Amino acid sequence: MKKQTNEKTKEQLKEIQFMNCKLFINESKPGKFEKDLKIASPLLLKAAAGEKLTAVERITLLTIYKVSFHDSGKIEGTSSLDSTATNCEFCQNMRNNNADNKACICVHCYDAAQEQYRINVLNRHTLNMLIMSTVDFEIDELRMLPLTLITRVNSSGDTRNKIYARNMLKCCFAFPLIHFGYWAKNTAPIIAACDELGKPENLILIQSACYIGKTVKKAKYFDYVFIVYPDKESTEKAIAAGASACNGKKCRECGYKCYFGNHAGNGTIAELLRGADKKTIQDIKASI
Ligand code: SF4
Repeated sequence: MKKQTNEKTKEQLKEIQFMNCKLFINESKPGKFEKDLKIASPLLLKAAAGEKLTAVERITLLTIYKVSFHDSGKIEGTSSLDSTATNCEFCQNMRNNNADNKACICVHCYDAAQEQYRINVLNRHTLNMLIMSTVDFEIDELRMLPLTLITRVNSSGDTRNKIYARNMLKCCFAFPLIHFGYWAKNTAPIIAACDELGKPENLILIQSACYIGKTVKKAKYFDYVFIVYPDKESTEKAIAAGASACNGKKCRECGYKCYFGNHAGNGTIAELLRGADKKTIQDIKASI
């Protein structure tokens, strides 16, 4: 049912490329997104060309940026600063380079799949990513974002570049009372940004392991490594070896441990793969 609705929606829209990103717009009946894109486009192109934006132009882009609020689901009760799994080059490369490797978590990306049929979400996530990865904002400017006490960075997508990482760190500096949990597979731009700006005290960095069931060395500045395991047995084995358990339900039920840095254990967090059928799990295990 969903698929039919989406195909119909996509048919009514025009696919365009903007700054190497795929977007879908309604030319005949422009809505809020189309109007926002029209205002943001020249400003983003100007900034991308290395020209200085005026204070008003920078603030205009932040009024177009959309913070997500989660009133249901796993991160219920949080706000989030999101990127796009479809148009983020890091995410694209991970999926393309691992197309035959079922153990790569990006091949099973829920966000990328969702953005295929939720065009509004794809468009908004993409515009968010472009704004935060093109303009290096001031801490004072970022104070206008309407964040809540617990804020997730990248509940969708990943860190596009160092400008994006710098802006996320500056959001932490702008809101010292907010607890930030920043998830990333693309750790390099975040390390470079922390080298320059320092790591904010109210930020917990969580490195998402790229491959199911495989541990990785924790990157500089990161607090935890988050690893997804293919079955109950391997998840329990990891927990017995000292990993903290992510129960996979709501973060609120575990007391938002990732956001407060309250995990005991060996610095890894283990989560059981969700939503995969038997055949997929078999394929994943064969690839590990
Ligand atoms: S460990 Fe807790 S806070 Fe972290 S992702 Fe799992 S449920 Fe959320």
